[in-house]
Amino acid sequence: VKKKVVVSACILGEQCRYDGKTKKISAVAEGLKGYEIIPFCPEAPLFGTPRERINVMLREGENRIVTDETNKDVTKLLEDEINTFIAAHPQVDRIILKSKSPSCGYGTTPILDEKKDPIALGNGIAAELMQAHYKDIKIEDECSFMKHNPNGSD
Ligand code: SF4
Repeated sequence: VKKKVVVSACILGEQCRYDGKTKKISAVAEGLKGYEIIPFCPEAPLFGTPRERINVMLREGENRIVTDETNKDVTKLLEDEINTFIAAHPQVDRIILKSKSPSCGYGTTPILDEKKDPIALGNGIAAELMQAHYKDIKIEDECSFMKHNPNGSD
């Protein structure tokens, strides 16, 4: 049985980014040849592609939320989508997520204040929920993956 790896779909070459583009890094898929790759993108099925940019925002008196361009709170929508994915894949062996994304970023996502000024770096909402569920797995992003697999080898 192959080990399972969750990978942000835009890294694999899907044109699922908000701007309709991909962030394909061929070396990632090549470096994961021995794995069953499970593509993951919570935003495209919910909001379509291309779509408005969403942001992780800290609003006064609230926990961190995710908002669209009009500052509408879309946190619950995203949480439901991500939790459905986690429920469908309760056990995986590795997770590689796209850096800086409001969904996928792990420690690299800009957290904005109400004026949309960045005030810190943190986790995207998917990274947050995955970290809580897949407790024993250290989430990687494409940068840390490339650092350890510079030639695409695993
Ligand atoms: Fe989808 Fe995550 Fe890539 Fe954004 S970073 S396009 S949510 S897979």
